[in-house]
Amino acid sequence: MTSPPTDPSALHWDPETFRQHGHQVVDWLADHMAGIADLPVRSRVEPGEVAARLPTSAPGEGEPFEALLADLDDVVMDGMTHWQHPSFLAYFPANASPPSVLADLVSSGLGAQGMLWSTSPAVTEVETVVLDWLVDALGLPAAFRSDGPGGGVIQDTASSATLCALLAARERVLDGAGNRDGVPQGLTVYASAHAHSSLEKAARVAGLGSIALRSVPTDADHGMAPAALAEAIDADLADGLRPVMVMATVGTTSSTAIDPVAAIAEVTTERGVWLHVDGAFGGSATVCPEHRDMIAGLEHADSYVMNPHKWLLVGFDCSAFWVADAAALTGALGILPEYLANAASASGEVIDYRDWHIPLGRRFRSLKLWWVLRSYGIEGLRSHIRAHVAMAQQLAGWVADSDDWELAAPHPLSLVCMRHRRDDAVAERAMEAVNASGNAFLTHTRLDDRYVVRVAIGGWRTTMDDVRGAWDDLVAAATRIEGVGHG
Ligand SMILES: *Cc1c(COP(=O)(O)O)cnc(C)c1O
Repeated sequence: MTSPPTDPSALHWDPETFRQHGHQVVDWLADHMAGIADLPVRSRVEPGEVAARLPTSAPGEGEPFEALLADLDDVVMDGMTHWQHPSFLAYFPANASPPSVLADLVSSGLGAQGMLWSTSPAVTEVETVVLDWLVDALGLPAAFRSDGPGGGVIQDTASSATLCALLAARERVLDGAGNRDGVPQGLTVYASAHAHSSLEKAARVAGLGSIALRSVPTDADHGMAPAALAEAIDADLADGLRPVMVMATVGTTSSTAIDPVAAIAEVTTERGVWLHVDGAFGGSATVCPEHRDMIAGLEHADSYVMNPHKWLLVGFDCSAFWVADAAALTGALGILPEYLANAASASGEVIDYRDWHIPLGRRFRSLKLWWVLRSYGIEGLRSHIRAHVAMAQQLAGWVADSDDWELAAPHPLSLVCMRHRRDDAVAERAMEAVNASGNAFLTHTRLDDRYVVRVAIGGWRTTMDDVRGAWDDLVAAATRIEGVGHG
């Protein structure tokens, strides 16, 4: 038996080989960007089609890089739905702007794991400073800045941030006993009927169970009714239950409805309940001063999350989460095994972000946020947001003027919700026809028990021509479907 080689360098690319293949990859991506508008937005593959193009086992011997690159075209691309396509108007955008893409490449190349300040000080300190920048850029309360008791952290997603908020709130109510003894029954959480499902998932993961969730009624504009919130909390208190957290949403996923944060904060402050605000999509808009009304009252919130990885040009994943009192968060999530003990942590002079979220390990995600803020500048980001808001208002005007379609909800940001005036089935089939054509991609929701088509504007390549094209296609499809009857 031969002994294994003690110099494995022959296994790996040398820096010159990396340079050469790296250039090939950047060229491939640049060509993809240049040609993306000609691709069908939504993938048309059938289930299993991509898997069937792959061999059933990994290769025994390594393959040349050219073969890997070729299979991007031959195996993968048919199975891609193009989120960066200018006519991607589905869900909410997941913008991967060019500076963000390159920053992620650098983050991967540096390959640092920033679980502790001491495991790579720059990973922590750039993040802290850039999140402070973002507090100011978005007009958020100064209490979220790191120079007081509060501070921010980058999480993978808003779902994780909301879970962390709930864990901090839970331990504040239980005074740490939940972590020590397990979670007792009778804890409750509150959000509007239109809140994101991540709250219910968080309630399950945090040991409260779905039973803890109170769906608070909304007003005609689909925003939470504060009086109904007060009533729900007081009824639970009277029953001996323990309210843990209220989540207000600024920009719901269905329709970008905006819960009245200031009025909700009065209810939570009076009753000492943790207020978490979910601005996952809408939060990007407050980079523009004219959109800051929607976060009025945020200075009374305990935590806030918004996703730069949706509308603010930072590639997935980058969710910004702030707390007014970091000790409540680290008290709930901090844990120190001997193998992570170090002098810097013991000094109390550094932030160890491992105590601010669920995972231990973390990538250098602030790099892409930093590069986006610097490449575009705050004024560039404002122009980006304002363009989409203007497009949405124009589209809303066309819908309002239509004989066949009508607006289904207010459109304060860049999402337009519309329904067919006469027939939900026509709307549904028309949307499916548009999506099947590959020319645009739209999704739907239900509001007031009607089928509603959502046109979510916000992609970095989207122009008014793309919005016009999708609208014209939708109108034409509905006319055709209604004309031939569909009974
Ligand atoms: C998209 C969205 C979420 C979930 O975001 P993730 O980062 O994917 O977890 C939560 N809340 C609202 C209002 C959203 O629009």
